[in-house]
This record gives sequence, structure tokens and C-alpha cells, in this order.
Amino acid sequence: MTTDPIPTCPAPELFDRLAASRATAEERGAVLDHAAGCDACHAALTVLLATLPTAPRERS
Ligand SMILES: [Zn+2]
Repeated sequence: MTTDPIPTCPAPELFDRLAASRATAEERGAVLDHAAGCDACHAALTVLLATLPTAPRERS
């Protein structure tokens, strides 16, 4: 049993918000966590981030 915060694929509108950099850090983290274990979302997220003029990045 996993502890995936999003057992099902996130809503397309959430990806839209990520693309517009309007998602909260919590939402972005949840999507990234889900995408880490979901090939479909991982691929979608990769394409999404690649098309962003300024891809959101984690600050260190
Ligand atoms: Zn998914």
C-alpha cells in the first residue's frame, strides 16, 4: 500500500494551473508526487514543464 496523495490522475485543470504557475506549492508537490509513479502524468508533466517560458523550480 502506497501513501500517494493523489491515487487517481490529477484533473486537467490542475495541470493548467501548474502551466500558469498558479498552483500552490502543496498542489504542485502533490502532482509531482503522483507523476513520479504515473507514467502518463510524468510524460504530460515533462511536456508541460518543457513548454513553460519559466519553469517553476524548487529553490534550494
Ligand atoms: Zn496520473
